[in-house]
Amino acid sequence: MTEVVVIGGGPAGMLAAIFSARAGHRTVLLEKNEKLGKKLYITGKGRCNVTNETDTESLIGQTVSNPKFMYSAYYTFDSWQAISFFESIGLPLKVERGHRVFPASDKSSDVIAALYSELKRQSVDVRLGCQVNGIKKTDGSFIVDTSKGEVAGTYVVLATGGLSYPSTGSTGEGYDFAKSFGHTVVQPVPALVPLNVDLPWVQGLQGLSLKNVRFTLFEGGKAVYSDIGEMLFTHFGITGPLVLSASSFIKGSKGLRGEIDLKPGLDKDKLDKRLLRDFEKNANKHFKNSLDALLPNRLIDAVITLSGIDSEKLVHQITKEERLKIVDLLKHLTFSISGKRSFKEAVITRGGINTKEINPNTMESKLVDNLYFAGEVIDVDALTGGFNLQVAYSTAVLAAISIDEKGLK
Ligand code: FAD
Repeated sequence: MTEVVVIGGGPAGMLAAIFSARAGHRTVLLEKNEKLGKKLYITGKGRCNVTNETDTESLIGQTVSNPKFMYSAYYTFDSWQAISFFESIGLPLKVERGHRVFPASDKSSDVIAALYSELKRQSVDVRLGCQVNGIKKTDGSFIVDTSKGEVAGTYVVLATGGLSYPSTGSTGEGYDFAKSFGHTVVQPVPALVPLNVDLPWVQGLQGLSLKNVRFTLFEGGKAVYSDIGEMLFTHFGITGPLVLSASSFIKGSKGLRGEIDLKPGLDKDKLDKRLLRDFEKNANKHFKNSLDALLPNRLIDAVITLSGIDSEKLVHQITKEERLKIVDLLKHLTFSISGKRSFKEAVITRGGINTKEINPNTMESKLVDNLYFAGEVIDVDALTGGFNLQVAYSTAVLAAISIDEKGLK
């Protein structure tokens, strides 16, 4: 009988299978796609941000849902261990801005190839095109019902992912398997996802990218996220690193408002002085031709329209009150947000198997002996920067190590 059955051939499943096999257990890895790591392939825009070279406290700090649940997992297999692991299986890495780690080749396919070689080296029985339809437990062992027949095992690791980018195979079946054993699932919602803004002036800025701006997200009048960085306007609203991160802090769907501070380095007073200097230089120009040094061209029209000041007005005719209104707009460019985009565009799923029902020191189910969870299927999600893949590895390695320790008892 196979000892360990790992369901799902994403990063969590592959690491669980490798570490289980390394510990000497007969291990089978079941993946419904014809290839392993279909989602891993599209990570980091095809470059795969493998992890973040940082300490465990930072990993916890970047975890949005249930960070405390992750303590043992992160301490068992931190990002330094992930880096050593990948280098040890023949994947040279490099570190970029923000401690983001990438394969030296910039190719996610090399990450998958290295993992696949290691699975083979460890003699993991990898079964592709193998759709799991259900899991039963009888007489202390599991029977996994698949499109290619039944697979029996003493231990099961459920690593089927969440619901985001369903085209990659993450379609949420793992939730149903867990529910069939009495587990509850915290309502999955899209996270790290672009946001819809149904305002013509925002959509009209499609393609414009802003760097070094502060984006603040308000929900029900309260600021839930605020940071400086990069964002992008699209035909439906806004996206880019700041916006994706902000989306992870949205709790409901109502009362959402975004605010951009276009000049976070200058307080209102300094910005007013700067504007005054520009206006003195351009005193005889039309208002519409006076902001070139301050704003990207495409934003000038939007700011002029929102200010309500006649674009043909001569700059020396602009009143102090009008100037202060412009300053206010530059510091608080505000718009209502109608909601998040769907799972199809979400980098990660928030929600999943309830962490209260999983032992954080082992990743074993508190309800079913020998059933383990790893990766995005669990109600844990983190911010961008390689942190979500680290969640997958840390939970997977902890599950594999715990199975080994349990098997030895
Ligand atoms: P998945 O990768 O979703 O793998 C689950 C696997 O289980 C799938 O292969 C699926 O086919 C299989 N499966 C599901 N149900 C069954 C079944 N019934 N039978 C058999 N097999 C089944 N994170 C980062 O840290 N860095 C990045 O650069 C990054 N970039 C991203 C870019 C995009 C566009 C997206 C969508 C995500 C990105 N992420 C990134 C997040 C990261 O991809 C996920 O956190 C990670 O893939 C989760 O791993 P997992 O193994 O838990 O789940």
